[in-house]
Amino acid sequence: MIVAGAGMAGLCAAARARELGVTPIVLEKGNRPGGSMVLSSGVVWRYRCFEAFRRECPTGDPRLQKLIVEQLDDGLDWLESLGAPVVAAETKNPRTVGRRFDPRRLTEVLVRAAGDIQTGHALGSDARARPAEPLLLATGGFPLRLARELGLAVRSNLWSDGDGLDLALALGAVTTPGMNEFYGRAMPAPPARWGEGEFVDHAQLYGHLARVFDESDEEIVVEADDWSENGLVQEIARRGGRAWFVVDPNELDRDTPYGTLAEVIDRARSAGGTVEERADGSLAVHIVAAVTHTIGGLVIDEQARVLSQAGAPIEGLYAAGVDVGGWSTGGYASGLAAALVFGRIAAEQVAS
Ligand SMILES: Cc1cc2nc3c(=O)[nH]c(=O)nc-3n(C[C@H](O)[C@H](O)[C@H](O)COP(=O)(O)OP(=O)(O)OC[C@H]3O[C@@H](n4cnc5c(N)ncnc54)[C@H](O)[C@@H]3O)c2cc1C
Repeated sequence: MIVAGAGMAGLCAAARARELGVTPIVLEKGNRPGGSMVLSSGVVWRYRCFEAFRRECPTGDPRLQKLIVEQLDDGLDWLESLGAPVVAAETKNPRTVGRRFDPRRLTEVLVRAAGDIQTGHALGSDARARPAEPLLLATGGFPLRLARELGLAVRSNLWSDGDGLDLALALGAVTTPGMNEFYGRAMPAPPARWGEGEFVDHAQLYGHLARVFDESDEEIVVEADDWSENGLVQEIARRGGRAWFVVDPNELDRDTPYGTLAEVIDRARSAGGTVEERADGSLAVHIVAAVTHTIGGLVIDEQARVLSQAGAPIEGLYAAGVDVGGWSTGGYASGLAAALVFGRIAAEQVAS
């Protein structure tokens, strides 16, 4: 079995395959394993029930959403059985259940369990030189490409540029709806400079505490049920990718997921971002929509087999993680969960 990508999906698949007696070869384009997982907050979660998942991601693929709801908890127990330490046994979000792992420790545990990983080795056009060998695409979708196309910032690993997608399309695969959708965050706009180490705590996640205006000074309504603010970020992307979050200075001690408003705005300022004090005393923070992972991707069946235009599995071709589309279309869900569940299913299918 060849596994392309040593992120959450590829590592889970390789580790599970080894457990089941299959020796995987893991190719990793980057100079380190861990993909976006190692940069993440490490919360692997699902909605409490299938119906809630449908409500949150209404245009998603119910078959895949059902798999995530039904199989995530077993996957979490399995991660723990491999030795991944749980930092918190809940998500602190009443809508969801899951566990929080330390992303570095989780990566270390999975790397150990996955066996040989060839870093600096991208899956290329010769990928099907051994067509008898099952191939799992776990290359992390196409956040770089989408950010380039839409003029947005990147908030993912540096290598996920649609390689798995291109290869599968060349082999007759088909893509899901929502190829322009993404999970992302508002980040301080240039001239602010921030890198991997600031992806989490420089996020400007307080649209609900602000009034939001696009570059034409038109107000963007923040929907009350958009708890993740992923809908807001995508609306900003549709309006050119830049916006202003305007806050009342009397509200600066309000809490956001990453500290008080004052602290988060200070981080934007210290990164070189634009924070204007307006004539009415309000503070306006210039933000840019940043792509974390893509939501559209390859169509798979319940065995993680990549499907063709005709709806038939393409011989020996599997996909997992955010190379797969459809599980969160129209909303927001856990990429780590999709990687864990579909990665394990792909390995079990290859081993069966
Ligand atoms: C700051 C941040 C916070 C996040 N927090 C959370 C969170 O708390 N919970 C959650 O569920 N999700 C979170 N996410 C999202 C989550 O990290 C991703 O959805 C998840 O890691 C996707 O896993 P993956 O294996 O599909 O892709 P990745 O983890 O992106 O791995 C893909 C791998 O494939 C490699 N690759 C690319 N092209 C090739 C090629 N041609 N050949 C070989 N290898 C290739 C890449 O280098 C990469 O290592 C967060 C992400 C970020 C950046």
